[in-house]
Amino acid sequence: MANLEIFQFPTRSDNYGVLLHDPQTGATASIDAPEAGPIQAALAQKGWNLTDIIVTHHHADHTAGIGALKSKFNCTVYGPAREAGLIPGLDVEVKEGDTVAVGHADATVIETSGHTRGHVSYHFPGESAVFVGDTLFSVGCGKLLEGDAPTMWASLSKLAVLPPETAVYCGHEYTGANCQFALTIEPGNEALQARAAEVVKNDANGRPSLPTTIGLELAINPFLRASSPEIQTRLGLEGQPLEVIFGEVRRRKDRF
Ligand code: ZN
Ligand code: FE
Repeated sequence: MANLEIFQFPTRSDNYGVLLHDPQTGATASIDAPEAGPIQAALAQKGWNLTDIIVTHHHADHTAGIGALKSKFNCTVYGPAREAGLIPGLDVEVKEGDTVAVGHADATVIETSGHTRGHVSYHFPGESAVFVGDTLFSVGCGKLLEGDAPTMWASLSKLAVLPPETAVYCGHEYTGANCQFALTIEPGNEALQARAAEVVKNDANGRPSLPTTIGLELAINPFLRASSPEIQTRLGLEGQPLEVIFGEVRRRKDRF
């Protein structure tokens, strides 16, 4: 049923690059373009030709490679309409509900603002995969640089209702540090304890902790768990609106 081969590789200091390839048509998309060199190396390793760059948000660690890749491959660049002036080489502006195709696979655009004003995520229902940039991390979420807590909570809530088996590809690997913080917010969460132990092992073996899944994050990620009684009690916010509880978790992480 799945059409795409998905190849994830580390780049910059803590970013991930991801290539999506449709073997039937040869179409190949890069999710964001953190830097050109490692993306070109990954393409060469796979023998793929870059046809598209699909951008989540305007930050340099997601767009710095666009110029060099576009001039080498003449690929088409998709990105959020709300950040059109900020993304170099943008060809196709996308917004909520739009479809972006990679060969025979279609992604639906989900607007997930909060980290930046126009941040978008790309959900490929046929591939059971979502590419979330800096909106959601494993056991974490993006900093609220251009949005407030209610905005980010609404964005995360759109991701939370995707099928639980959906693979989540994030812009960065911060899982180990995120687990240390999360354990201060919900120390009694056994699934979180297990994830923290697993991540220590992964780090020691140089193995990535991504992709994660929606179902796993719902069980362990304090930024998705504002309704957890343990978290509400610990924060002294029993029964408060979920976006308020989320906002307090985010504030504590910023100071952690
Ligand atoms: Zn960012
Ligand atoms: Fe980033």
